[in-house]
Amino acid sequence: MCGIVAYTGYREAYPIVIKGLKRLEYRGYDSAGIALLNGGLNIYKKKGKVAELEKLLEEKKDELHSHTCMGHTRWATHGEPSDRNAHPHYSNSRGIAIIHNGIIENYEALKKDMQMRGHTFHSDTDSEVFIHLIEDVYENNQCSLEDAVRIALTMVVGAYAIVILSKDHPGQLIAARKGSPLVIGIGKDEFFMASDATPIIEYTNEVVYLNDFEIAIVKNNTLTIKNIEDKISTPYIQKLDLELDSIEKGGYPHFMLKEIFEQPKSITDCLRGRVKSASGHLMLGGIRQYANKLIHADRIIFVGCGTSWHAALVAEYIFEEFTRIPVEVEYASEFRYRNPIIHEGDVVIAISQSGETADTLAAIELAKAKGAIIFGVCNVVGSSIARASHEGAYLHAGPEIGVASTKAFTAQVTVLAMMAIMIAHKKGTITESRYQELLVDLEQLPSKIEKTLQLHKLVETISEEFKNARNFLYLGRGYNFPVALEGALKLKEISYIHAEGYPAAEMKHGPIALIDEEMPVVVIALQDSSYEKIVSNIQEVRARKGRIIAIVTEGEEQIRKIADFVIEVPRISEPLSPIISVIPLQLLSYYIAVMRGCNVDQPRNLAKSVTVE
Ligand code: GLU
Repeated sequence: MCGIVAYTGYREAYPIVIKGLKRLEYRGYDSAGIALLNGGLNIYKKKGKVAELEKLLEEKKDELHSHTCMGHTRWATHGEPSDRNAHPHYSNSRGIAIIHNGIIENYEALKKDMQMRGHTFHSDTDSEVFIHLIEDVYENNQCSLEDAVRIALTMVVGAYAIVILSKDHPGQLIAARKGSPLVIGIGKDEFFMASDATPIIEYTNEVVYLNDFEIAIVKNNTLTIKNIEDKISTPYIQKLDLELDSIEKGGYPHFMLKEIFEQPKSITDCLRGRVKSASGHLMLGGIRQYANKLIHADRIIFVGCGTSWHAALVAEYIFEEFTRIPVEVEYASEFRYRNPIIHEGDVVIAISQSGETADTLAAIELAKAKGAIIFGVCNVVGSSIARASHEGAYLHAGPEIGVASTKAFTAQVTVLAMMAIMIAHKKGTITESRYQELLVDLEQLPSKIEKTLQLHKLVETISEEFKNARNFLYLGRGYNFPVALEGALKLKEISYIHAEGYPAAEMKHGPIALIDEEMPVVVIALQDSSYEKIVSNIQEVRARKGRIIAIVTEGEEQIRKIADFVIEVPRISEPLSPIISVIPLQLLSYYIAVMRGCNVDQPRNLAKSVTVE
């Protein structure tokens, strides 16, 4: 994971880099560091968040003048979070420095080799070997630094986005990528490099997304892109459509709360131009040329990780019901390592908020090589998964910065539901009247989400009651079973309370043994096709003195009498109900985490986009 950012141009570089690092902190916050050219190549680094580094540098402000600087915020893979393992890392002579996002898989062999050649290492990271290698090639081949980088790249195995800064080449930045993202911002007489566009947008909206095996060289105020075979290519400059407001907290105490409350807007944006019930219009602009492959698919395989995997589970129910195409849902990390059976008629739908999830990316490359057609469902425009897919649909949910995913989940389910309804309509597996009804239901989502959000005070009160619980159980059935999983995941990741999600009927096969008067049980019990059954499950919990928090349909009477707390959400058609029922669970996890004093936007050990395998 890690966030990397670099600048060269006419401005003071340090303030741009430190601000950029704060924007990228969602990617990792084990340590932070910068390197700049202030009379020499100097590195400043510190364990902990970017704020710790900033504090350290507060007293040194006067020495931080440089027009070129690069910075890193780390999510440790090799070597504990510490000052010495923080990036940047120096080369042996301390003449060059590197920041790296990714994993160098053959670092041990390379390190041994470098040590034998007299190099001394100062960290336990895999990354450090990269800069020793580059310097070794540079010194022994009498080549340019950019050629040394290019040759070194052919010797490393693994994933990387790197930036190199050299004391002998002021105003020069060299970057490269394979498997980890890197965006280059092009301003007037200035250049930016970053893991995503958020550190760049306030300066320029012209960007180039670096492709795998490409090297970017900024020198003499010019950008050159070449590949690992030394072939120069013309940079493909894209215009960014990202507002600065969308990446700031806008008065909310946390990004997560802002993103929860943004859902009426994010779903409106997600539906915009795609659904019009009055004219029976449902169209996903990104699915055209390959639409028939989807309609005639023998099988659909969803791949994703974490919350995206939960969205895929909801989609499994929706796709099978409407399109009658068999569906499988796979953890990308399992799928890619088990020689899966994939035929030509198979369609793979890859789901990833960031579009950079390393395992999901690898899973689609594998499926593509076996002849499958790939559709990407991503939030970040131009991301690696979006680009590696044949076609796809963006979420258009706006940047999601809170580490715990909220608005991306509801947008993922919305996009996947639109896909399923569109295919079913084209295939004739749903009736015209059902199609019309579903379009109306989709259009009503934003107002129903708005109404659900008005329950926040009630959810806050309930959170107060359960904030000291040590365990939670979440139960749901059918479409809302994945919501139980998602609710449990939200609580675990930000409040560190152990929580498990289960299909309600499975409770009797084990988890019921956990229930006593100490155990809060959150049950999603809407008036849908499994209502009667789930009422019985609630009775079973109650008989064992479990404390019940039920998410019910507005006006519901029966559960009110047996649950300790009920949260009434607006009525909505069953396949779309997860988009509504998940919202109180997002709020519950948020308030409990805040009450327990947890860092909601930056939970321990986590990072937002998992770009390492
Ligand atoms: N492998 C490097 C380290 O542990 C970079 C990690 C990352 O990109 O998350 O420092």
